[in-house]
Amino acid sequence: MNMSVSIVIPVYNEAENIDALVRRVSEACNELNGPWEVILVDDGSRDGSIEKLEAAAERWDGKIQAIILNRNYGQHAAIMCGFGHASGDMIITLDADLQNPPEEIPRLAEMIEQGNDVVGTIRRNRQDTLFRRFASGRINWMVKKATGVGMSDYGCMLRAYRKPVVEAMLQCRERSTFIPVLANSFAKRAIEIEVAHAERAAGESKYSVWKLVNLQFDLLTSMTTTPLRMLSWFGVAIAAGGVGFGLLLLIGRVLFGAEWAAEGVFTLFAILFIFIGAQFVAMGLLGEYLGRVYHDVRGRPRYFIDHIAGHSSLGGSDAGETAASAALERQIQT
Ligand code: UDP
Ligand code: MG
Repeated sequence: MNMSVSIVIPVYNEAENIDALVRRVSEACNELNGPWEVILVDDGSRDGSIEKLEAAAERWDGKIQAIILNRNYGQHAAIMCGFGHASGDMIITLDADLQNPPEEIPRLAEMIEQGNDVVGTIRRNRQDTLFRRFASGRINWMVKKATGVGMSDYGCMLRAYRKPVVEAMLQCRERSTFIPVLANSFAKRAIEIEVAHAERAAGESKYSVWKLVNLQFDLLTSMTTTPLRMLSWFGVAIAAGGVGFGLLLLIGRVLFGAEWAAEGVFTLFAILFIFIGAQFVAMGLLGEYLGRVYHDVRGRPRYFIDHIAGHSSLGGSDAGETAASAALERQIQT
């Protein structure tokens, strides 16, 4: 079975890297068994990357395609755009800065051909600053807690996806997406392999601390509305504290007389706590509705069929059709 491969690469101000990137990616792709294409998505570069991409697309006509976005939308949005134009049986993403060695592409393709839906990667001897390593360690921990999708390295975008998974992701209409987590939620068999990781070939990281914080919010909110629900629990805890405090005051008052509780001043505090708690509970309730609206607005497929075995003679029309993509399409239309 020779699966066709689409490589999707987001590019943002990477002019110095593009020549080496195109050369190394196409060399790696020539080692693949099946046909391949490369889709380079320019995410609003202003440093001459666009001209280089256009030149590469012209030189490798039929193999390399350059898609130029009008402005900067962010790495994940650019990849989504690439997904929309990819036509391979599997889609592999990597960074344009050559931190992900293109030479790993055949290995990833092989893992997909072995039957995995998503192949993630873990960076061997990461070449990042200590701060970045610490930050992504925190992110990994938080996401695992919040989403339950176990994955060791969320930051590495050298990943491979089977086509139906990508199609499912394209059906999600939300604007802020975090692709690795989203993909894993549609995969039946996800696997992680170790890959090499190099230092940035040229230029500097496009992620400032601020962009990283934003990405972290995307990541959290793309999977869960737990933070909203936590408001309620916080409120319940404060209110319960207020009630307990009130009881304590009452007992003290009975045992030790009126002066003990500063003539009732502390009683006011106890009542205040109860009301503050009630406000948080109310906010949490609002959050609960908001969370539901958010889920519905995103319009994600309610479930994702991996495949269907056998067929019913009743419906008839889709006899023998087992492709998950077709199944998914039906789910979404109904
Ligand atoms: N990138 C992008 N849009 C952005 C930021 C980054 O398309 O707004 C691309 C960038 O060109 C690179 C990849 O995303 O191909 C990863 O970015 P970078 O190497 O700066 O991130 P880091 O490796 O520092 O996490
Ligand atoms: Mg990088």
